[in-house]
Amino acid sequence: MPVISCDQVLAELSKFLDDEAAVSLRRDLEAHLADCRTCRVLYDSTLKTLRIVIDSRSFDLPEGVSERMIASIMKKVRLPSPD
Ligand SMILES: [Zn+2]
Repeated sequence: MPVISCDQVLAELSKFLDDEAAVSLRRDLEAHLADCRTCRVLYDSTLKTLRIVIDSRSFDLPEGVSERMIASIMKKVRLPSPD
């Protein structure tokens, strides 16, 4: 059983991606990602998008960019669907 909810994962995902999450939080997030397909898809697509941006620009993302990117990806991933 994941110890944190999907909403918590989404709330902390930018910290996780920015390496700002505490060790205990990272562990909880990783455990959740291992169990939850929805969050893993979101995490993977966010990570891929970030990598493309980082690779194409070769400098660190300004503060807040990953958060905005996650928000826009979340909108796509969380489209209302019957399943
Ligand atoms: Zn989840």
